[in-house]
Amino acid sequence: MAIVDDMRKKIEELEANIAVYEDISSNLPSDINYIVQSLLNHQLNDLRFRLERFTFLKSEKQCSQCQNWIKEHEEPVLLNYQYNKMKPLHMTLCTNCMSAMDKVMVTNEAESKWGLRPGTIKQDRHLGKLREFEDMGLIVNSGRYIKVHELVMRAYYEPKQLEKEAKKDRKTKKTKNEKEAPQE
Ligand SMILES: [Zn+2]
Repeated sequence: MAIVDDMRKKIEELEANIAVYEDISSNLPSDINYIVQSLLNHQLNDLRFRLERFTFLKSEKQCSQCQNWIKEHEEPVLLNYQYNKMKPLHMTLCTNCMSAMDKVMVTNEAESKWGLRPGTIKQDRHLGKLREFEDMGLIVNSGRYIKVHELVMRAYYEPKQLEKEAKKDRKTKKTKNEKEAPQE
């Protein structure tokens, strides 16, 4: 990673400068010596701190939704979900994306947007199919409405719909074959 290499190089340079400085500093008045020394050390610590944080952030926490680096004090929400045998969904989500208002909608809005029968989400919730999402705060009770995050739709309902379509396709193929069979 170019930026990390660059930071490492800067740290090495600064360490070398400090060593050179220590050699010549004995001739300087002690108060000046002290100031320069602490400035250099401060710079070095700052660089080390940034490098540490940077490499940590780079390797661990990036929001899969907005691609932003997640701040140190923030705990990302991890969504690891697999609908039956469909492709699993793994996401790391920052606080912003979790609470983004345009991603949260009342259930009937979500149902019409995703072409589901009204009441589907409520029903699935009662059947306990959405418990994982409830635990993560992606489905919440808000007064007399239930609000659902767009991610629930992407993680649960979209693969469910794909699965349904695939089943339907197989079925039409099968009935077609059955109809064609007697002609042979
Ligand atoms: Zn985000």
